[in-house]
Amino acid sequence: MREERSLELRQGAHGWGLYTTINLPAGQTIVRENAVAFGEGHSGGIPVIHVMAAAYYLELSHFRPADDPCPEESDQALIYFTNFYSPAPGTTWEHGVTLSGPARPVIPLHGAVGFVVSRINHSCVPCAVVELLRGAPKKPLELRLVTLRAIKAGEEITTNYRDIEDVVERRRLLQKDYGFLCECSRCLEELGKRAK
Ligand SMILES: [Zn+2]
Repeated sequence: MREERSLELRQGAHGWGLYTTINLPAGQTIVRENAVAFGEGHSGGIPVIHVMAAAYYLELSHFRPADDPCPEESDQALIYFTNFYSPAPGTTWEHGVTLSGPARPVIPLHGAVGFVVSRINHSCVPCAVVELLRGAPKKPLELRLVTLRAIKAGEEITTNYRDIEDVVERRRLLQKDYGFLCECSRCLEELGKRAK
């Protein structure tokens, strides 16, 4: 992880979170890390996790939706589905992607979990975004955390897990897939407008 001294992983109001200890400008890459686990949709199963990473990986959040269609899924699969980031639209993948598979067909299997970035909390008004980059052939997938705006020292770094316009649908999906009801400033403002 780059910029180690300026970023801090710690427990906050929403569990693990990432915080900056310095002011950061917009558009800056603040974390670069290789994926702990990644899926490309062709294996049909959960991604392989690097042995050295497994212990750290298992500390990540682990949520089983109430309507989970696959109750037999392993803990590792649930951790993957609760924590992966998808590639940005337009990303080119090395292999053809097949979205069939036994896990959860509604969630694309191509995505990646990172040591640091998968501990970042959600906001519907995020201050950063995670990009997935394919390096040289056979090299691990890289995750990059990039600031979307200037961030002040002490602020929590957030990303958007579900960028959906409609506030009710967005909060419903966040609760269904991640187990929390979002109460960020955008949600509260949009809900307030609806109540009028
Ligand atoms: Zn929100």
